[in-house]
Parts: sequence; C-alpha cells; structure tokens
Amino acid sequence: MMHESGSLSIHSENIFPIIKKWLYSDQDIFIRELVSNASDAIMKLKKLETMGEAQIPQDTEFKIQVVVDDQKKIIQVIDNGIGMTAEEVKQYINQIAFSGAEDFLEKYKDKTDQDQIIGHFGLGFYSAFMVADQVQIDTLSYQEGAEPVKWICDGGTEYKMEKSNRKERGTTITLYISEEGQNFLNEYTLRSTLQKYCSFMPVEIYFENPNQPPTTKEPNSDIEKDEKKPEPINNPSPLYLKHPNDCTDEEYKAFYREVFFDFQDPLFWIHLNMDYPFKMKGILYFPKLKNEFETMEGQIKLYCNQVFVADNIKEVIPEFLLLLKGVMDCPDFPLNVSRSFLQNDGYVNKISNYITKKVADKLKSLYKKEKENYEKYWDDIHPFIKYGCLRDEKFYERMNPFVLYKTTKGDYVTLDEYLERNKEKHDKTVFYVTNEQQQAQYIHFFKENDLEAVILPSTIDQPFISHIEMKKSEVSFKRVDSDLSDVMKTEDDSKSSDETKKSIEEMFRKALGKEDLKIQIENLKSENISAMILLSEQSRRMQDMSYMFGNFSPGMFPEEQTLVINQRNPLVQRLFQLQKQATQEEDVKMICEHLYDLALLSHKPLDAQSMNRFIQRNQTILARLLG
Ligand code: ADP
Ligand code: MG
Repeated sequence: MMHESGSLSIHSENIFPIIKKWLYSDQDIFIRELVSNASDAIMKLKKLETMGEAQIPQDTEFKIQVVVDDQKKIIQVIDNGIGMTAEEVKQYINQIAFSGAEDFLEKYKDKTDQDQIIGHFGLGFYSAFMVADQVQIDTLSYQEGAEPVKWICDGGTEYKMEKSNRKERGTTITLYISEEGQNFLNEYTLRSTLQKYCSFMPVEIYFENPNQPPTTKEPNSDIEKDEKKPEPINNPSPLYLKHPNDCTDEEYKAFYREVFFDFQDPLFWIHLNMDYPFKMKGILYFPKLKNEFETMEGQIKLYCNQVFVADNIKEVIPEFLLLLKGVMDCPDFPLNVSRSFLQNDGYVNKISNYITKKVADKLKSLYKKEKENYEKYWDDIHPFIKYGCLRDEKFYERMNPFVLYKTTKGDYVTLDEYLERNKEKHDKTVFYVTNEQQQAQYIHFFKENDLEAVILPSTIDQPFISHIEMKKSEVSFKRVDSDLSDVMKTEDDSKSSDETKKSIEEMFRKALGKEDLKIQIENLKSENISAMILLSEQSRRMQDMSYMFGNFSPGMFPEEQTLVINQRNPLVQRLFQLQKQATQEEDVKMICEHLYDLALLSHKPLDAQSMNRFIQRNQTILARLLG
C-alpha cells in the first residue's frame, strides 16, 4: 500500500475542540466506546462465521486486551475481531461517521447543558481524542489476502495511512495519552472505568500492565498448577441474560453482591425478561434497609446490549423504582437522543409501565402466597411502596389493597381489615401513632380502652395518609393525641352536672391564665388519667407540613391545643372540693398548673422555661410533704 495522507471528511474543522469540550465531564466514556467497538468487531466476526462467510481457526479464543503502560504513556485496546481493510478505514474512520458528526454539531453547538445527551452520534471512535493527542490504528481484516493497515491522526483534521506490520487478524487502537488524560494511566483509575462500563460486555476483557505482573487466579486444581490463568475483568454472561427458570437463589444473591458490593442479602428480587413488544432483560432487587432510620437509596444501572449507559436515568425508570437496586438491559433503547425527548417517548413510557406492573404483580403474589414473608419484609419495603403509590397512579391502584399497617396490637393488617374490625368502635376512622415512645401514654390509654391504633413512624407516612384520605374521602386518619373516641368516655354520672363542669373549667382557666387554651371536661373511663392534651389533627398536619417544606415560621399555624380534664379522676375531684375553700387558692393554682404540665409532658418534652418551673414546683411540693 502507498503512503497516503488526507483530510478527514467533515465539514467543520472544529470538531475536536467541540468533542473535547462537550464530553469533558464524561471523559471516561472513551473506554466504553473503544472497548465496545472491539467487542462489536468480535461479535460481527462470530456472526459472519455462523453464516458461513468467514473461516476462523478452531482454537480461537476471542478476547479484548486493554493495556496501560504508564512509562510509555500509552493505552491500547486490542481485539481479534473482524479488522478493517484500507477501504473500510477510509469509509468508517475517515469520513467521521458520515452525517453523524454534522448532526451532532448542528444540534449541540450552542448548548451548554452537558446532561442533555445520554448517547452519542456515532462519534464513538473519536472520543479517543478526549484523552489522547495522537491515535493510531493497526488493523488486519479477516478477509483473505487482506493487507494490514496503519492509520495515524494527531487530533487535527489531517491523517496518515500506510502499511502496518500487524500479523494477526483484528485491530489495535493505540492512544498516546495527552495532558488531559494522564489520570487514565493510573492502573486503578483505568481498571475501575473498565469495570464501570464493561462489566457485562459479551467478550472477555483482560487488563494488562507491562510494568506490573498480571493478576492471576490461584491455581485450585492439579491441572491448573503450572499455568496461572489470568482472569477477565468482566462477566460476559451476566445472570440477567439467563432464563429466570434456570437461575437459583444463590446465583441471584451472588450477582447482587458482585454488582452492588452490598454484602447484606437482598430481601427478594424480580427477574424481568421480555421480548415483545420490546426487548428488555434485567433484575430488580429489594435491598434490606440497614437500620430503621436509613432512607432507601437505590441504584438502577441501565445497559444497552451489555454496555453500561448510565445510573438512575429517571426519564426511563419510574422515579420510585430508583429506590431499588438493579440492572436493566434495553437493547432497543434510543440512546442518542436528549433526555427531554425520552420523557415523552412512547417506547420509554411502555418500559416504565411494564416495570411498574411487574413490581406490583410480584408484591401482590408475595402477599397472596407468602404472607408471612411479606409481613416480615414490610418494614423494609413500605417506604418504597408508599412512595410508589404517591408517585404513580397505576401503582397505587394495584398496590393499595396490599399496603399493610402495623397495629399497636402487634399484627399487620390492611386498611380494610382495620376498618372492619374497629367498625363498632369508631367507624371510618383510623387512629395512628407516629412515635411510640412519645405517645406511650396515649397508647396505654388506647389499650386500656381496648382500642388499637396503627403505627406510622416514617416521614413518608404523612403524605401517604393524606393521599389515602383524598382517594377515600370517607376515611379519616387521626393521631392518637388528636381526638377522643366515644368508647373512651363513660356516661355522665349524677355527680357531674353542667354546672360542675363549668366550675372545673373556670378553676383551670383562672389558675393557668391561658386565654387561647381550650379546656374540655370529660368523664373518661380510665379514672387514673387526670388530664391530657389533644392537638387538632388538622393544625398539626399543617405545622408538620410547613416544617417539612422548610417554610415554617412560628405563629403561622397556631397549635390548637385542648386540655382535657377527666372529671372522674380522684385528684381532680379533690381539687374541685379544695377550691371551694377560699384559703386554698394558692394550692389550687399550683396543682392545676402541675396537672397541666403533666399532661403536656406525656405529649411532648417541655420547653426550657416550663421545665424550670416544673422542677421548682416539684421541689415546693416535696418540701410541703416533709412539712
Ligand atoms: P459506531 O461504533 O457507532 O459505528 P464508531 O465511531 O465507534 O461508531 O466507529 C466507527 C466504525 O469504525 C465502526 O462502525 C466500525 O465499522 C469501525 N471500527 C471501529 N473500531 C473498530 C474495531 N476495533 N474493529 C473493527 N472495526 C472498527
Ligand atoms: Mg462505536
């Protein structure tokens, strides 16, 4: 072959600066591009062989080698695939991906938001120039009688082509690493980049560093004793490609560990396997939460034909599913389009709906067939399910019948079950607890009255119950400290006339001197309760919400507090008698204040000032006892 040089056939001289600038934040994708080209080259050759169009020696071991030499400052990607003839190099390399480059320039030259594109415009090979100031191709085509070709380009629009001395079929891409690409000469960086993008590529990839001995597997059998076999850095047949019927639990768990480095086993998983109307394979795992305060944080890795594309693309995967961990491979995925386009893409919506349905089906079948496990998992999976219900109407409709509520009796029930079994006592009302410690007194009081509440301690629960109330307008949720159910009260007995009630109220009002405090006199079944605080459900929720959204300012939603005094409590009765004696006014005031503080205390911690007064008063009372 003659020496040849020429100009790259693109209409702009400025493509390289743009590629460099544009893709700068994703500099590492050059690895993805070059290794996937190598893998494509091998897959193409295999395909030709099966079609009888290429002869390959029997003992061929297809593989890709990635060589990093930090002394020579080069990185090489070597394959024994299809190779290229000089004609092909001219066609596929010199005419930069035909119109692809122009499209790219047209669409993106003015954009600054680099997140806009996920894929690329057939510029894969040229991404090499993000890290190299010179790139060399040495290639020998599989075709009989082909001549090896060398191609060199220094990142300008000029290239040089000549005969190469390559002897074996395949292609070597050599990158002479530039200033910008130095960190990829670091073995660790390069290795982890390979692991990120190429973990599941269909051809074995070997990492080599001529300045370091290769990583080897310990020989574990006699046969292997004298040949230490290097290990590929990837897994060319990842589990998600296997048919679900052929996978064992152990394999699923091992794959989870391998991909997510999470050594806690997942709770369960869903193997997605679909061919029609679109192709998609993958495994979604429900991770175990490490502690009760941890919010779920998932990771969904998206692959396209075993090449990693990106994590957590929320335009493709329903947002709530991002709380799970998993891998998904969508071979037909339109990668080279902008993210805003994806949101409105029918194909993408179909994927999204399909996954949502699969997840709901799996949960439903667990509920139906493995109720015990489902309950066991509930504490780990409920934030995910509730979030899903909030974000996705269809998921809500599918899942709502299987949302569980843990009760103060210690079992798990559905909403319908709870309503049904409490129908006689409080129809259509669900009492709930948000903090079992803080609301312990109320829970105790509930139990005394043979009532049950559900336990809803998570941040997601408040928006979730509001959602249920919106969907089922007849149902209302009330926190245990917001209202008294009729079953907690008893018939007025003769002792309590309206007049008595009035005077007890007056006694407290005068002692506490709080104008805006509502005081309510009741006959509670539990005699041992002297007073308790009720907090209007509505104003408390408003308050909670403004806290959550960070726009809380004091006084915006004043707390609507009610002090309930139990007329049947012996202490209250004695206090009422005492009050009739004019001389005891001071004691009455002190005891009223004290009862109020006690009620407050079983509701929430006292503020500093009240706490001070409370302690002082306690001392006074103790001093009195001693006489
Ligand atoms: P794409 O892979 O999207 O076609 P690239 O810029 O990555 O675009 O590559 C352009 C073309 O160059 C490929 O389609 C292929 O024909 C050829 N090519 C690149 N790398 C190799 C290789 N290692 N072996 C054989 N052909 C290759
Ligand atoms: Mg490519």
